[in-house]
Amino acid sequence: MNSVPDKLDKLMMLIYTSIATRPMTEQDLIDILAVSRKNNALNQITGLLLYHNGSFMQVLEGPRACVEYTYYRIARDKRHHYVTTVLHQPITVRTFGAWKMSFVNLSNPTIAEDPAFSRHMLDALGDPGLFQHNSIAISFVETFRFLARANTA
Ligand code: FAD
Repeated sequence: MNSVPDKLDKLMMLIYTSIATRPMTEQDLIDILAVSRKNNALNQITGLLLYHNGSFMQVLEGPRACVEYTYYRIARDKRHHYVTTVLHQPITVRTFGAWKMSFVNLSNPTIAEDPAFSRHMLDALGDPGLFQHNSIAISFVETFRFLARANTA
């Protein structure tokens, strides 16, 4: 896969939610992350992957063409469905610049008890209705950025 230098292509942030087609085991999640981190390093993609109770939310950020190609591959993946774009916008700086793909498994009770997020946010994961306004999606991401810092896999 060819990488595209940031300078030649606008930086974009894309957020989507999706539903797992079957309950994900820890090994399933490890497999997804291993491939993601390898590919994302080549494509200058950084971001965050959240999983809870059969729902995914992922933030992809990087050069436009790389984000779109990565999302195209992800959206065709049979391990999840109902892939819904909730935010797709230009950015000037990366929020998750240091991470090829950070991961938070919210099914882990230790993380779920973290005061940094509310039960409401947990329940809303996988519900694109939450993200009707970009500002809500961004504040959601900001919250999880702090959690990911403490719990990066
Ligand atoms: P190949 O490896 O050639 O696979 C061919 C097809 O099989 C693809 O459609 C692929 O999606 C599917 N496939 C591959 N492995 C499995 C499996 N174990 N079970 C079922 N189907 C499978 N990839 C990234 O590069 N970056 C990411 O950030 C990223 N995030 C992801 C998040 C989620 C929630 C999921 C489910 C997948 C994610 N992936 C990510 C993986 C991505 O969907 C592709 O599998 C991967 O990028 C390889 O793509 P490929 O076209 O080279 O497919």
